[in-house]
This record gives sequence, structure tokens and C-alpha cells, in this order.
Amino acid sequence: MFNDAKKLVLFFACALLMMQTGKAALAQPTAPAENPYTQRYWLLRSASTLTGVDWTYLAAVDQYERTLNQANPNTRPKHEGLIAIHYTAEDWAGALNPNKEDDSPYTIAVFGGVGKDGNGDGKADRNDDMDRLMTMALHLASFGPSEDDIREGLWTHYQSDRSVRRIEQFRNIIHHFQSLDLFEHAFPLPIHANYSYRSTWGAGRSYGGKRIHEGTDIFAGYGVPVKSTCYGVIEVMGWNRFGGWRIGIRDLNNVYHYFAHLSGFNKEWQEGSIVKPGDVIGWVGSSGYGKPGTQGKFPPHLHYGMYRDSGSIDWSFDPYPYLRKWEREERAKRR
Ligand SMILES: [Zn+2]
Repeated sequence: MFNDAKKLVLFFACALLMMQTGKAALAQPTAPAENPYTQRYWLLRSASTLTGVDWTYLAAVDQYERTLNQANPNTRPKHEGLIAIHYTAEDWAGALNPNKEDDSPYTIAVFGGVGKDGNGDGKADRNDDMDRLMTMALHLASFGPSEDDIREGLWTHYQSDRSVRRIEQFRNIIHHFQSLDLFEHAFPLPIHANYSYRSTWGAGRSYGGKRIHEGTDIFAGYGVPVKSTCYGVIEVMGWNRFGGWRIGIRDLNNVYHYFAHLSGFNKEWQEGSIVKPGDVIGWVGSSGYGKPGTQGKFPPHLHYGMYRDSGSIDWSFDPYPYLRKWEREERAKRR
């Protein structure tokens, strides 16, 4: 126990040194101070060094919690800091703790709260980035270092297969690129191609009973390449009665990008593949509205939809303004 405590102190000293070194580097005019991901990366790396949990898992949990904060503004806090991981006052201080804002690691532990002192200042402060991050990192580390151990740690914390799956998807994306800077987008068709689209989200349609149109139809000829709009993981690839040959890609904002009616897939990819904006995933077609292989029931077009995961359900939102924005940005780049 004494040795462990000594080790921990040594680790904290190293981490603080690393964090200070990071800050010193950031203060220099030549350092990439403008990159908003640099400071977060340093915190994640420090917590990873201290606990042995791969930084990409910590980054994935942090990013997943950020998407929960964005999707649930009424029930989740708006953390202004670098780390979005959230604990309720009860979980942090302990359910029976009379002091809900307790920041003493000792009494928090007595009342069974999860809050830890992560930055070594003697307080377990629920408003401190490093304290919240280290609380999560130590929780995961207590299960062991393997992927299965971490999955068990995630499941114990979230009690939800859906949450664990999302965090593993996010982790795979971040691990693949070894970066946090993964929020660029691309227009789904080559902007020099012949295509047209207008805002059609929410319009009624007839096939398959009463459904609203959850997307934007981009009309183009057969075989025009369809590209990933984001950094993400291919979550779904195959036939669907309505969508025909379709692909679904999950990004780090927890948005599901849906590409339907394709004439075929790029065989380079499969479910689980990691893609970046602009990667060709398939080609425009007219598949769908029938049994597998059905084609030509309507003019060829790409049906493009966007869905946000709130933590429990996916809800559709209008992709049209985003398409216009990405198109504009690519036009500007070509000039
Ligand atoms: Zn459509």
C-alpha cells in the first residue's frame, strides 16, 4: 500500500511536469497554440500515462460524453472546460453524503462516491477537468488493460450496450487516425459532376405507408461516385427494402450519415471500416423499393440522410443546410 502510494505520487509529479511542459510549449509563438485539440490531447495522454489505459479509449469516452451534452442540453451540463465527462453530484460525492458538493477525497470515499483527486491538489473537484478524467480513467484501469476488460469497465459505468458500442466505434476512429482533429466534412458527390438537389426533408411520400422524407435527394446520373461526408466508421452496408443498396457511416459527433439507392458499393470497404471525408464508398443508382436487387423504380439519385443519437434514440434532422455548406467549402477550396 505504502509503495503504491509512493508510486502514485511519482506518477502525479511526472504528469504535472508533462502538463507544464505542454503548457510551456503552447506559450511559444511557433507552437500550434491555435489547435484546439492540443491541450485536450495533453490531458488525455497524462491520464493514460498515470493509469495505463490507452489514450484513445479516454478520448472516445470524452467525445461520447460531449455528444450526450450536445444532444441533451436540458439534462446534461454544458462543460466549458476541455473534458466533457460528466458525473452527477450524487454519483461524485456518494448518494448518502450530506454534502452534495463535497470535494474531500476522504469523505467522498467514506460515502462511496466515485470522485477522485486527479490533479494532485488534494481536492476531488467535480468541476475540474483532470479530476473528472482521472476518475473515469481509474475506473477503467481497475478492470484491467485488455479490450475485454475495458469493455466490462464501460458496461459497468453506462449499463448500456448502445453506449459501449458507440464508445468502441469512436475509439476505432480515433485510434486509426491517432488524432482528435477529425471533424472535416465533404460533399457526397464530386462537385464538378452534374447533379441537382433542393430542400425536401419532411415532405410526404407514398411507398411503405405514411412516412416523412428523412433526407435530401441529390439527382445525378448512374455511376457518379458517392463519397463519405465525414471521418467515421461504416456501421451498415447492405440491402434495405426502402433504401436499396445503402451505407450508414457513424461520425464522432454521433451523427449517422445514410446513403441510399446506390448502384453498388466500393468493395474496398466493409462494415467496421474506417473512412475519411472524400473516400468513394459507392455509386449513384436507383436501387430499392422492392426485394434485393430491385432497380429503376425511380430516377437515379442519392438519398442522403443525417440522424443524431441522443443516447437512446436516433432522430432525423435536415441535411440540406449542411450539404450547401460543404459544397460551398469545396468550391472555395478549388478556387
Ligand atoms: Zn430520398
